[in-house]
Amino acid sequence: MKEMKENNPEAGKLIAIVEDDPDVARTIEQVLGDFGFRTIWCRNAGELLRRLRQSAPDLCIVDLGLPDMDGLEVMQRVRAQSPCGILILTGRAHVSDRVMGLELGADDYVLKPFEPRELVARVRSILRRREQLADESSQLAEFAGWRFNLGNNTLQGSDGEEHVLSTAEADLLRVFVRNPNRILQREQLMGKRDLQPTDRSIDVRISRLRRKLEPDPQNPALIKTVYGAGYLFLATVNWR
Ligand code: CA
Repeated sequence: MKEMKENNPEAGKLIAIVEDDPDVARTIEQVLGDFGFRTIWCRNAGELLRRLRQSAPDLCIVDLGLPDMDGLEVMQRVRAQSPCGILILTGRAHVSDRVMGLELGADDYVLKPFEPRELVARVRSILRRREQLADESSQLAEFAGWRFNLGNNTLQGSDGEEHVLSTAEADLLRVFVRNPNRILQREQLMGKRDLQPTDRSIDVRISRLRRKLEPDPQNPALIKTVYGAGYLFLATVNWR
């Protein structure tokens, strides 16, 4: 037990469980406790929504079959009230409920009956994913006098002036700052939106980015063209 706790970087996080079946709730509290999680058990939706006003769980495990409120409605109300992760627990094997739950903002779902260890694995994976997203949104990349905020796509110059990049430009710059001083093929620079490597939109985006970043866009010093190979982002990137 001690080992499970020590090997869990997410230990200490608070998990709210809304579940009307005391046996199921006990099983969940037990296994989460073994991994060092703190838990709150709520017997119904009303109790959960009340508790959310006092405490801020990192994740809610929501049983879709509750006595006082439709599970999907509970989920929506949790979403509106708290930025926590949501794991749906459901005995209903109906695909539509699960799909609906995910569309309404649940991070994952587990079907009853479940293997307790599997439930913990899903909980941890949601928490990890959310942490990564939070890290990413607070990241700042500094290069050549510029400061690029990956969370809100703004680029600040050494004069302090802020430019907001389009999503497409920001996506491109993200790839560059993560892979400086490496030749990147056009395919590596293209987002999912681009259809084919022959698509010229990448070159259009590169020239837009150059006009924003380069003192002399005609003779780029930061984003170099490597003929027949791709592009090279020539910079030292510091992360803040
Ligand atoms: Ca139930």
